[in-house]
Amino acid sequence: MSLSPTLSPREADRLGVLHRLDLLDTPPSASFDRITRMASQLFGLPLAAVSLTDVNRQWFKSRVGIVEASLPRLKAPCARIAETGEMLVVNDLRADEGYADSPLADAGVRFYAGAPLVTSGGYCLGSMCVLGLEPRAVSDAECAALRDMADMVMAQIELQHALGRVDPASGLPNRTQFIDDFKDMTADRPAGEARVAALLNLASPEQLSSALRVMGASYLDEIVGEAVRMLAETIGADSTVYHVTPTEFVYVAPSGTGVEAFCASMERWLARRAASVTSRFVTTARIGVAPFVIGETGSADLLRNLHSAAQHASDEDRGVCVFSQEQDAVYRRSFWLINEFGAALDHAAGSPAAQLRLVFQPKIDLASGACIGAEALLRWTHPAFGEVSPGEFIPIIERTSMVRATTDWVLAGAMRQLAQWRAEGLALQLAVNVSAANLLEPDFCERIVGDLGRHGLPPSSLSLEITESALMKNPKLAQATLCALDAAGVRLAIDDFGTGYSSLAYLQSLPAQVVKIDQSFIRGIEGDERKRALVSAMIKLSHDLGHRVVAEGVETADVVDVLKDVDCDEAQGYLYARPLAAQAFAQWLAGQGGEVAKAA
Ligand code: C2E
Ligand code: MG
Ligand code: MG
Repeated sequence: MSLSPTLSPREADRLGVLHRLDLLDTPPSASFDRITRMASQLFGLPLAAVSLTDVNRQWFKSRVGIVEASLPRLKAPCARIAETGEMLVVNDLRADEGYADSPLADAGVRFYAGAPLVTSGGYCLGSMCVLGLEPRAVSDAECAALRDMADMVMAQIELQHALGRVDPASGLPNRTQFIDDFKDMTADRPAGEARVAALLNLASPEQLSSALRVMGASYLDEIVGEAVRMLAETIGADSTVYHVTPTEFVYVAPSGTGVEAFCASMERWLARRAASVTSRFVTTARIGVAPFVIGETGSADLLRNLHSAAQHASDEDRGVCVFSQEQDAVYRRSFWLINEFGAALDHAAGSPAAQLRLVFQPKIDLASGACIGAEALLRWTHPAFGEVSPGEFIPIIERTSMVRATTDWVLAGAMRQLAQWRAEGLALQLAVNVSAANLLEPDFCERIVGDLGRHGLPPSSLSLEITESALMKNPKLAQATLCALDAAGVRLAIDDFGTGYSSLAYLQSLPAQVVKIDQSFIRGIEGDERKRALVSAMIKLSHDLGHRVVAEGVETADVVDVLKDVDCDEAQGYLYARPLAAQAFAQWLAGQGGEVAKAA
């Protein structure tokens, strides 16, 4: 609501307080009505109200005997009380110079007595009043009773207000209060002042949920209690810490605090906490720090920036991180990708709204030059933003639970295509990329074997490509899945070989038949002796361990010559074909004479 520019600063403040209490135009409430009824009975009068003085109306939070929800502020005795903050008694409105022609007197009211509703900050919101249709006098005892009832109304107002603004677990002001106080700070402090704030997160959602599972719901109260005590010791009683979500606290540093010094003090706080509290064993506290400028940054933006910084601290496994615009852009992009990719997965393949499709890149047997099979690669065309590269979206999706649905989608499409090719007489072998998390799905192997059976496909017609790093995450479980797949006859390939950290001993223990040397070792190999020596050694070693070797990213005939020299088995790359849609792939194959080499 915009306030009239002619208001005195005091009246503007008073209205600000009234509006922030969020009382105006709220439904009736039994707790207020009880007090109003008491007032009416005590005075033996037909009319009583809790009346709040807004910009240009008297609004009744509670009323007895009054039909209207509000009356004009002009010439209302309640408004006078709001302005003076003092009790007002008018024995006969018609005989009173100020109120003889007031709307109340016109409506037949003769007697008015009102006590001020004063906040603990000293602002008068309106009055607790009683009205009569006959002139009347009041005793001192009645005045005192009316004042008591006004105090009861105020206690009720402040209690209700506090309930919505204080976190019951910590007793600290909550997010709503932070937003209000931030608005006040913006109004009070000089525009352009540089300030800094911090958000402390006590535990990640995963940590919290596992801790609650083991230790019960009171665990959250315990870690909150510990943190609140430590924050109070560090920050002092004069500063406010806000409890903005169950595990998060926000604090605005005093004016003049620099970002670096602030971060250092936060680091010290975390170190002290880590040394003293018991919860450190199961939860990791993170702090996001964000600088902001008074008058330029809104509370919602500041909170978002603080969250982003705390999230970054968690991703980077650091205690404290300062908000960065670039990092935030990365998060926003990931968030967007995750949402949009989820929608893309919902559209069935082949439907007009389909955004996902598979393309196929041939694999060539270097000895015969014939196509041996293909790798299925996922493509995503966003309806508004066009092609999004799997190099960008796959690593992000792999961090979400969508990874299962994604691989299922790719496997289903790949098997359909494989079955169709085989029905057309093309005995191709198709490779599908799978993610680390897929290998940890307990029914992964079972599902694949079942699907192969349903499509009438021999297990050896499917090859699964897994990156080395995927295998390192949970080697035991991954290994068990791989062994089950191997036993079922599904072929396995180690993708991007050379880029991970796996040891050679580890390579030996894997049931993979194929090693795919990463493109970074292949690119430029024709003019680089060291690369050639390295690739030659990788091939020899892989052969010794019984693996076939595929070179990725083959773009020139010169590279092929080197690969043949060093005894590489297969090649894949733009030299032969880019990844192609199924139909284009069939045409390409026909152009090669339709010959399909049998995989060794
Ligand atoms: P990758 O499995 O190593 O796939 C090979 C990538 O190299 C593909 O990129 C392919 O288009 C590209 N490539 C092939 N030949 C050449 C060449 O001669 N020169 C160059 N410069 N590049 C070549 P793409 O399709 O962009 O995929 C990138 C990565 O995304 C894949 O690497 C794979 O790790 C992942 N990916 C793609 N599709 C899927 C999928 O369906 N599931 C999963 N989990 N990952 C996928
Ligand atoms: Mg691959
Ligand atoms: Mg690769």
